[in-house]
Amino acid sequence: MGLTRLRGFQDLIGPDARAASIVEERARAVARRYNLSEIRIPMMERIQLYQHSTGETSDIVTKQMYVVRRSDEGAGTDDMVLRPEGTPSVVRAYIEAGLDRRDPYQRYYYLGPMLRYERPQKGRYRQFNQFGVEIFGRADAASDAELMIMIDDLTHELGLQVRFEINSLGCDEPNCRPAFRAALLEFGRAHLKELCEDCHQRLERNPLRILDCKIDGDRIAEAAPKSLDYLCDECRKHFDDVKQFLSRRAVPFVVKPNLVRGLDYYTRTAFEVVSASVGAQSAIAAGGRYDGLVKELGGAAVPGTGFAIGIERTALALQASESKFDAHPRVALVGLGDQGNLAAMSLAHDLRERDLPVELLPTDRKLKAALTIASRMGAAFIVIIGENEIARGVVQLRDLRASTQREVAQGEVAEAIRKAADALPPD
Ligand SMILES: [Zn+2]
Ligand SMILES: [Zn+2]
Repeated sequence: MGLTRLRGFQDLIGPDARAASIVEERARAVARRYNLSEIRIPMMERIQLYQHSTGETSDIVTKQMYVVRRSDEGAGTDDMVLRPEGTPSVVRAYIEAGLDRRDPYQRYYYLGPMLRYERPQKGRYRQFNQFGVEIFGRADAASDAELMIMIDDLTHELGLQVRFEINSLGCDEPNCRPAFRAALLEFGRAHLKELCEDCHQRLERNPLRILDCKIDGDRIAEAAPKSLDYLCDECRKHFDDVKQFLSRRAVPFVVKPNLVRGLDYYTRTAFEVVSASVGAQSAIAAGGRYDGLVKELGGAAVPGTGFAIGIERTALALQASESKFDAHPRVALVGLGDQGNLAAMSLAHDLRERDLPVELLPTDRKLKAALTIASRMGAAFIVIIGENEIARGVVQLRDLRASTQREVAQGEVAEAIRKAADALPPD
Protein backbone atom coordinates (compact mmCIF):
# COMPACT_ATOMS: atom_id res chain seq x y z
CA MET A 1 0.00 0.00 0.00
CA GLY A 2 1.43 3.33 -1.04
CA LEU A 3 0.82 5.91 1.65
CA THR A 4 0.16 8.72 -0.76
CA ARG A 5 -2.46 11.41 -0.45
CA LEU A 6 -5.94 10.83 -1.87
CA ARG A 7 -6.64 11.93 -5.40
CA GLY A 8 -7.97 15.47 -5.54
CA PHE A 9 -6.48 16.37 -2.17
CA GLN A 10 -3.37 18.45 -1.75
CA ASP A 11 -0.57 19.30 0.61
CA LEU A 12 0.29 22.97 0.69
CA ILE A 13 3.94 23.49 1.51
CA GLY A 14 6.12 26.57 1.84
CA PRO A 15 5.12 29.46 -0.45
CA ASP A 16 1.86 27.71 -1.46
CA ALA A 17 0.75 27.50 2.16
CA ARG A 18 1.96 31.05 2.74
CA ALA A 19 -0.14 32.39 -0.16
CA ALA A 20 -3.25 30.67 1.24
CA SER A 21 -2.53 32.11 4.70
CA ILE A 22 -2.13 35.60 3.30
CA VAL A 23 -5.56 35.39 1.67
CA GLU A 24 -7.07 34.15 4.94
CA GLU A 25 -5.38 36.81 7.04
CA ARG A 26 -6.49 39.59 4.72
CA ALA A 27 -10.02 38.20 4.58
CA ARG A 28 -10.26 38.22 8.38
CA ALA A 29 -8.91 41.76 8.48
CA VAL A 30 -11.51 42.94 5.96
CA ALA A 31 -14.24 41.14 7.95
CA ARG A 32 -13.17 43.05 11.06
CA ARG A 33 -13.40 46.36 9.22
CA TYR A 34 -16.95 45.48 8.13
CA ASN A 35 -17.80 44.65 11.74
CA LEU A 36 -18.81 41.05 10.97
CA SER A 37 -18.87 38.54 13.78
CA GLU A 38 -17.28 35.15 13.37
CA ILE A 39 -19.30 31.96 13.32
CA ARG A 40 -17.70 28.52 13.60
CA ILE A 41 -19.74 25.68 12.19
CA PRO A 42 -19.30 21.88 12.37
CA MET A 43 -17.50 19.82 9.71
CA MET A 44 -20.40 17.35 9.58
CA GLU A 45 -24.12 17.82 9.18
CA ARG A 46 -27.14 15.66 8.50
CA ILE A 47 -27.58 14.92 4.82
CA GLN A 48 -31.10 16.36 4.93
CA LEU A 49 -29.72 19.84 5.56
CA TYR A 50 -28.27 19.95 2.05
CA GLN A 51 -31.21 18.21 0.44
CA HIS A 52 -33.45 20.98 1.77
CA SER A 53 -31.11 23.87 0.95
CA THR A 54 -28.47 23.24 -1.70
CA GLY A 55 -31.13 21.24 -3.50
CA GLU A 56 -31.93 17.62 -4.34
CA THR A 57 -31.27 18.20 -8.04
CA SER A 58 -28.01 20.10 -7.55
CA ASP A 59 -24.71 18.49 -8.57
CA ILE A 60 -23.42 18.91 -5.03
CA VAL A 61 -26.19 16.82 -3.49
CA THR A 62 -26.58 14.24 -6.25
CA LYS A 63 -22.90 13.59 -6.96
CA GLN A 64 -20.42 15.37 -4.77
CA MET A 65 -21.07 14.78 -1.09
CA TYR A 66 -18.89 12.64 1.12
CA VAL A 67 -21.18 10.55 3.28
CA VAL A 68 -19.70 9.48 6.60
CA ARG A 69 -20.44 6.49 8.74
CA ARG A 70 -18.89 5.32 11.98
CA SER A 71 -16.49 2.39 11.85
CA ASP A 72 -18.84 0.27 13.98
CA GLU A 73 -21.95 0.53 11.85
CA GLY A 74 -23.21 -0.02 8.33
CA ALA A 75 -24.71 2.65 6.12
CA GLY A 76 -27.88 3.90 7.77
CA THR A 77 -30.72 6.23 7.00
CA ASP A 78 -29.40 8.84 9.40
CA ASP A 79 -26.52 9.75 7.12
CA MET A 80 -24.01 12.39 8.00
CA VAL A 81 -22.00 14.26 5.38
CA LEU A 82 -18.85 16.33 5.40
CA ARG A 83 -19.97 19.86 4.65
CA PRO A 84 -19.75 20.72 0.93
CA GLU A 85 -20.53 24.40 1.53
CA GLY A 86 -20.96 26.74 4.47
CA THR A 87 -24.26 28.57 3.96
CA PRO A 88 -26.65 25.75 5.00
CA SER A 89 -24.80 25.23 8.30
CA VAL A 90 -24.81 28.95 9.07
CA VAL A 91 -28.54 29.16 8.39
CA ARG A 92 -29.20 26.06 10.51
CA ALA A 93 -27.10 27.46 13.38
CA TYR A 94 -28.90 30.80 13.14
CA ILE A 95 -32.29 29.13 13.37
CA GLU A 96 -31.16 26.69 16.07
CA ALA A 97 -29.99 29.60 18.23
CA GLY A 98 -33.46 31.14 17.86
CA LEU A 99 -32.06 34.30 16.29
CA ASP A 100 -34.47 34.23 13.34
CA ARG A 101 -37.28 35.11 15.76
CA ARG A 102 -35.47 36.87 18.60
CA ASP A 103 -32.91 39.02 16.82
CA PRO A 104 -33.04 38.42 13.07
CA TYR A 105 -30.55 41.03 11.90
CA GLN A 106 -27.15 39.27 12.04
CA ARG A 107 -23.92 39.45 10.06
CA TYR A 108 -21.43 36.61 10.10
CA TYR A 109 -18.24 35.41 8.51
CA TYR A 110 -16.75 31.93 8.57
CA LEU A 111 -13.53 30.36 7.37
CA GLY A 112 -12.73 26.70 6.92
CA PRO A 113 -12.51 23.60 4.75
CA MET A 114 -15.32 22.21 2.57
CA LEU A 115 -15.36 18.83 0.82
CA ARG A 116 -16.79 17.94 -2.57
CA TYR A 117 -16.16 15.05 -4.87
CA GLU A 118 -14.99 17.14 -7.83
CA ARG A 119 -13.12 16.24 -10.95
CA PRO A 120 -9.65 17.45 -9.93
CA GLN A 121 -7.87 20.08 -12.01
CA LYS A 122 -5.74 23.12 -11.42
CA GLY A 123 -7.44 25.28 -8.82
CA ARG A 124 -10.11 22.69 -8.11
CA TYR A 125 -9.62 20.25 -5.27
CA ARG A 126 -11.82 17.94 -3.29
CA GLN A 127 -10.96 19.70 -0.08
CA PHE A 128 -10.78 23.47 -0.29
CA ASN A 129 -11.11 26.35 2.12
CA GLN A 130 -13.75 29.02 1.93
CA PHE A 131 -14.11 32.40 3.51
CA GLY A 132 -17.82 33.16 3.57
CA VAL A 133 -20.11 35.95 4.71
CA GLU A 134 -23.84 35.69 5.48
CA ILE A 135 -26.12 38.60 6.29
CA PHE A 136 -29.57 37.89 7.73
CA GLY A 137 -32.54 40.20 8.11
CA ARG A 138 -31.86 42.51 5.19
CA ALA A 139 -33.68 42.45 1.89
CA ASP A 140 -32.28 45.70 0.51
CA ALA A 141 -30.06 46.03 -2.53
CA ALA A 142 -27.45 47.86 -0.45
CA SER A 143 -26.66 44.68 1.49
CA ASP A 144 -26.03 42.75 -1.75
CA ALA A 145 -23.87 45.55 -3.09
CA GLU A 146 -21.93 45.82 0.16
CA LEU A 147 -20.95 42.16 -0.09
CA MET A 148 -19.51 42.73 -3.54
CA ILE A 149 -17.76 45.90 -2.40
CA MET A 150 -16.23 43.86 0.43
CA ILE A 151 -14.86 41.36 -2.07
CA ASP A 152 -13.63 44.24 -4.20
CA ASP A 153 -11.79 45.66 -1.17
CA LEU A 154 -10.17 42.32 -0.45
CA THR A 155 -9.06 41.61 -4.00
CA HIS A 156 -7.77 45.17 -4.29
CA GLU A 157 -5.66 44.72 -1.19
CA LEU A 158 -4.31 41.50 -2.61
CA GLY A 159 -3.45 43.29 -5.84
CA LEU A 160 -5.76 41.08 -7.94
CA GLN A 161 -7.62 42.12 -11.06
CA VAL A 162 -11.18 40.82 -10.94
CA ARG A 163 -14.50 41.36 -12.62
CA PHE A 164 -17.98 40.81 -11.19
CA GLU A 165 -20.60 38.98 -13.22
CA ILE A 166 -24.08 39.64 -11.90
CA ASN A 167 -27.62 38.58 -12.60
CA SER A 168 -31.04 38.61 -10.98
CA LEU A 169 -33.00 35.40 -10.67
CA GLY A 170 -36.19 37.10 -9.53
CA CYS A 171 -38.25 36.41 -6.44
CA ASP A 172 -39.88 33.18 -5.36
CA GLU A 173 -43.59 32.47 -5.07
CA PRO A 174 -45.82 34.18 -5.78
CA ASN A 175 -44.01 36.70 -7.92
CA CYS A 176 -41.74 36.50 -10.94
CA ARG A 177 -39.95 33.17 -10.58
CA PRO A 178 -42.92 30.92 -11.34
CA ALA A 179 -43.38 32.56 -14.76
CA PHE A 180 -39.68 32.19 -15.54
CA ARG A 181 -39.72 28.60 -14.36
CA ALA A 182 -42.72 27.83 -16.55
CA ALA A 183 -41.06 29.43 -19.58
CA LEU A 184 -37.91 27.39 -18.97
CA LEU A 185 -39.91 24.19 -18.61
CA GLU A 186 -41.66 24.88 -21.87
CA PHE A 187 -38.35 25.69 -23.57
CA GLY A 188 -36.76 22.51 -22.18
CA ARG A 189 -39.61 20.31 -23.32
CA ALA A 190 -39.40 21.83 -26.80
CA HIS A 191 -35.62 21.21 -26.93
CA LEU A 192 -35.57 17.86 -25.19
CA LYS A 193 -33.40 16.29 -27.89
CA GLU A 194 -30.61 18.79 -27.22
CA LEU A 195 -30.51 18.10 -23.49
CA CYS A 196 -28.19 15.55 -21.95
CA GLU A 197 -29.45 12.45 -20.13
CA ASP A 198 -29.19 14.03 -16.66
CA CYS A 199 -31.03 17.14 -17.80
CA HIS A 200 -34.03 15.07 -18.86
CA GLN A 201 -34.44 14.21 -15.17
CA ARG A 202 -33.57 17.69 -13.93
CA LEU A 203 -35.95 19.50 -16.26
CA GLU A 204 -39.19 18.35 -14.63
CA ARG A 205 -37.91 18.64 -11.07
CA ASN A 206 -36.12 21.97 -11.39
CA PRO A 207 -35.84 23.48 -14.87
CA LEU A 208 -33.23 26.04 -13.71
CA ARG A 209 -30.72 23.21 -13.45
CA ILE A 210 -30.52 22.75 -17.22
CA LEU A 211 -28.84 26.17 -17.38
CA ASP A 212 -25.86 25.18 -15.28
CA CYS A 213 -25.44 21.67 -16.65
CA LYS A 214 -21.71 20.97 -16.88
CA ILE A 215 -22.12 19.24 -20.23
CA ASP A 216 -24.29 21.55 -22.27
CA GLY A 217 -25.37 24.29 -19.87
CA ASP A 218 -23.63 27.15 -21.64
CA ARG A 219 -25.15 26.34 -25.00
CA ILE A 220 -28.63 25.77 -23.56
CA ALA A 221 -28.48 28.93 -21.43
CA GLU A 222 -27.61 30.96 -24.50
CA ALA A 223 -30.86 30.02 -26.24
CA ALA A 224 -33.13 29.65 -23.20
CA PRO A 225 -35.43 32.31 -21.71
CA LYS A 226 -33.63 34.79 -19.43
CA SER A 227 -34.71 35.49 -15.86
CA LEU A 228 -34.10 39.22 -16.44
CA ASP A 229 -36.97 39.26 -18.94
CA TYR A 230 -39.38 37.95 -16.28
CA LEU A 231 -38.54 40.21 -13.32
CA CYS A 232 -41.45 41.83 -11.49
CA ASP A 233 -41.27 45.57 -10.81
CA GLU A 234 -39.78 45.18 -7.34
CA CYS A 235 -37.13 42.75 -8.54
CA ARG A 236 -36.21 45.05 -11.41
CA LYS A 237 -35.86 48.01 -9.06
CA HIS A 238 -33.79 45.87 -6.66
CA PHE A 239 -31.42 44.84 -9.45
CA ASP A 240 -31.14 48.42 -10.74
CA ASP A 241 -30.25 49.56 -7.23
CA VAL A 242 -27.56 46.91 -6.88
CA LYS A 243 -26.00 48.08 -10.14
CA GLN A 244 -26.17 51.69 -9.04
CA PHE A 245 -24.37 50.98 -5.76
CA LEU A 246 -21.67 49.10 -7.63
CA SER A 247 -21.24 51.85 -10.21
CA ARG A 248 -20.98 54.47 -7.50
CA ARG A 249 -18.08 52.54 -5.93
CA ALA A 250 -16.57 51.84 -9.38
CA VAL A 251 -16.77 48.07 -8.87
CA PRO A 252 -16.17 46.52 -12.31
CA PHE A 253 -19.18 44.40 -13.25
CA VAL A 254 -20.99 42.99 -16.26
CA VAL A 255 -24.56 41.70 -16.37
CA LYS A 256 -24.56 38.00 -17.25
CA PRO A 257 -28.14 36.96 -18.07
CA ASN A 258 -27.05 33.29 -18.16
CA LEU A 259 -25.66 33.19 -14.66
CA VAL A 260 -27.77 30.94 -12.42
CA ARG A 261 -25.33 29.30 -9.94
CA GLY A 262 -25.59 25.60 -9.16
CA LEU A 263 -27.54 25.96 -5.91
CA ASP A 264 -31.27 25.95 -5.44
CA TYR A 265 -31.69 28.67 -2.88
CA TYR A 266 -30.77 31.82 -4.78
CA THR A 267 -33.34 34.56 -5.33
CA ARG A 268 -32.78 37.94 -6.94
CA THR A 269 -29.07 38.84 -6.93
CA ALA A 270 -26.58 36.17 -7.99
CA PHE A 271 -22.95 36.87 -8.79
CA GLU A 272 -19.56 35.42 -9.54
CA VAL A 273 -16.14 37.02 -9.21
CA VAL A 274 -13.79 36.20 -12.02
CA SER A 275 -10.03 36.59 -11.99
CA ALA A 276 -8.01 36.63 -15.17
CA SER A 277 -5.10 34.90 -13.46
CA VAL A 278 -6.49 31.45 -12.64
CA GLY A 279 -7.18 30.17 -16.15
CA ALA A 280 -10.23 28.08 -16.91
CA GLN A 281 -11.30 27.76 -13.28
CA SER A 282 -11.53 31.48 -13.10
CA ALA A 283 -14.30 32.10 -10.54
CA ILE A 284 -12.62 32.86 -7.22
CA ALA A 285 -15.82 33.82 -5.40
CA ALA A 286 -19.57 33.58 -5.80
CA GLY A 287 -22.69 34.45 -3.93
CA GLY A 288 -26.17 35.81 -3.96
CA ARG A 289 -29.40 36.41 -2.14
CA TYR A 290 -31.45 33.63 -0.57
CA ASP A 291 -34.66 35.18 0.73
CA GLY A 292 -36.52 31.88 1.07
CA LEU A 293 -33.83 29.73 2.67
CA VAL A 294 -34.32 30.46 6.38
CA LYS A 295 -38.01 29.60 6.09
CA GLU A 296 -37.25 26.56 3.93
CA LEU A 297 -35.06 25.19 6.72
CA GLY A 298 -37.79 25.65 9.32
CA GLY A 299 -37.10 29.19 10.50
CA ALA A 300 -39.01 32.45 10.25
CA ALA A 301 -39.39 34.28 6.96
CA VAL A 302 -36.08 36.19 7.17
CA PRO A 303 -34.22 37.31 4.03
CA GLY A 304 -30.53 36.60 3.64
CA THR A 305 -27.60 37.25 1.35
CA GLY A 306 -24.02 36.01 1.25
CA PHE A 307 -20.96 34.86 -0.63
CA ALA A 308 -17.97 32.54 -0.37
CA ILE A 309 -14.43 33.05 -1.61
CA GLY A 310 -12.27 30.08 -2.55
CA ILE A 311 -9.04 30.48 -0.59
CA GLU A 312 -6.87 28.22 -2.75
CA ARG A 313 -8.07 29.70 -6.03
CA THR A 314 -7.50 33.19 -4.75
CA ALA A 315 -4.06 32.11 -3.55
CA LEU A 316 -3.31 30.79 -7.05
CA ALA A 317 -4.34 34.13 -8.52
CA LEU A 318 -2.14 35.82 -5.96
CA GLN A 319 0.86 33.69 -6.85
CA ALA A 320 0.29 34.33 -10.55
CA SER A 321 0.09 38.08 -9.97
CA GLU A 322 2.89 40.54 -9.41
CA SER A 323 1.82 41.26 -5.85
CA LYS A 324 4.45 40.98 -3.14
CA PHE A 325 3.49 40.39 0.45
CA ASP A 326 6.44 39.79 2.67
CA ALA A 327 6.66 43.34 3.87
CA HIS A 328 9.13 42.34 6.56
CA PRO A 329 12.67 41.40 5.51
CA ARG A 330 13.74 38.03 6.86
CA VAL A 331 16.72 37.97 9.17
CA ALA A 332 19.15 35.13 9.87
CA LEU A 333 21.11 35.21 13.11
CA VAL A 334 24.37 33.37 13.68
CA GLY A 335 26.09 33.09 17.05
CA LEU A 336 29.76 32.12 17.14
CA GLY A 337 30.96 30.17 20.17
CA ASP A 338 29.08 29.60 23.42
CA GLN A 339 28.88 33.26 24.37
CA GLY A 340 27.91 34.20 20.83
CA ASN A 341 25.06 31.68 20.85
CA LEU A 342 23.70 33.03 24.12
CA ALA A 343 23.87 36.59 22.83
CA ALA A 344 22.27 35.58 19.51
CA MET A 345 19.35 33.97 21.37
CA SER A 346 18.66 37.23 23.24
CA LEU A 347 19.06 39.38 20.17
CA ALA A 348 16.67 37.12 18.21
CA HIS A 349 14.10 37.64 20.93
CA ASP A 350 14.48 41.44 20.75
CA LEU A 351 14.09 41.49 16.98
CA ARG A 352 11.04 39.22 17.05
CA GLU A 353 9.42 41.51 19.59
CA ARG A 354 9.78 44.21 16.99
CA ASP A 355 7.90 42.04 14.51
CA LEU A 356 10.85 40.99 12.37
CA PRO A 357 10.85 37.37 11.16
CA VAL A 358 14.06 35.93 12.57
CA GLU A 359 15.63 32.52 12.17
CA LEU A 360 18.37 31.45 14.53
CA LEU A 361 20.77 29.40 12.44
CA PRO A 362 22.14 26.04 13.62
CA THR A 363 24.96 26.31 16.14
CA ASP A 364 26.45 22.90 15.40
CA ARG A 365 28.23 23.68 12.16
CA LYS A 366 30.74 26.00 10.55
CA LEU A 367 29.92 29.61 9.72
CA LYS A 368 30.06 28.91 6.00
CA ALA A 369 27.42 26.16 6.24
CA ALA A 370 25.21 28.45 8.32
CA LEU A 371 25.50 31.17 5.70
CA THR A 372 24.44 28.75 2.98
CA ILE A 373 21.28 27.98 4.96
CA ALA A 374 20.64 31.71 5.38
CA SER A 375 20.73 32.38 1.66
CA ARG A 376 18.54 29.35 0.94
CA MET A 377 15.86 30.53 3.38
CA GLY A 378 15.71 33.81 1.48
CA ALA A 379 17.16 35.95 4.25
CA ALA A 380 17.68 39.58 3.36
CA PHE A 381 20.03 40.15 6.30
CA ILE A 382 22.46 38.08 8.31
CA VAL A 383 23.46 39.16 11.78
CA ILE A 384 26.69 37.63 13.09
CA ILE A 385 27.66 37.85 16.73
CA GLY A 386 30.81 36.36 18.27
CA GLU A 387 32.92 37.01 21.38
CA ASN A 388 34.75 39.87 19.75
CA GLU A 389 31.45 41.61 18.94
CA ILE A 390 30.03 40.96 22.41
CA ALA A 391 33.06 42.61 23.99
CA ARG A 392 32.49 45.73 21.92
CA GLY A 393 28.66 45.75 22.15
CA VAL A 394 28.18 45.42 18.38
CA VAL A 395 27.13 42.88 15.72
CA GLN A 396 28.13 42.34 12.10
CA LEU A 397 25.18 43.17 9.87
CA ARG A 398 25.41 41.73 6.39
CA ASP A 399 22.92 43.01 3.81
CA LEU A 400 22.63 40.22 1.24
CA ARG A 401 20.80 42.23 -1.39
CA ALA A 402 23.17 45.20 -1.25
CA SER A 403 26.18 42.89 -0.69
CA THR A 404 27.51 45.02 2.14
CA GLN A 405 28.63 44.33 5.69
CA ARG A 406 29.09 46.73 8.56
CA GLU A 407 29.19 46.92 12.33
CA VAL A 408 26.07 48.06 14.14
CA ALA A 409 25.55 48.70 17.86
CA GLN A 410 23.57 45.86 19.46
CA GLY A 411 20.69 48.13 20.49
CA GLU A 412 20.30 49.51 16.98
CA VAL A 413 20.06 46.33 14.89
CA ALA A 414 16.30 46.43 14.34
CA GLU A 415 16.41 50.08 13.33
CA ALA A 416 19.35 49.49 10.96
CA ILE A 417 17.55 46.57 9.30
CA ARG A 418 14.35 48.56 8.82
CA LYS A 419 16.25 51.48 7.30
CA ALA A 420 18.26 49.28 4.96
CA ALA A 421 15.10 47.38 3.92
CA ASP A 422 13.25 50.61 3.12
CA ALA A 423 16.13 51.78 0.97
CA LEU A 424 15.86 48.74 -1.30
CA PRO A 425 12.94 47.72 -3.51
CA PRO A 426 11.15 44.60 -2.14
CA ASP A 427 12.43 41.36 -3.62
ZN1 LIG B 1 -39.86 39.43 -8.44
ZN1 LIG C 1 -27.32 18.61 -19.37
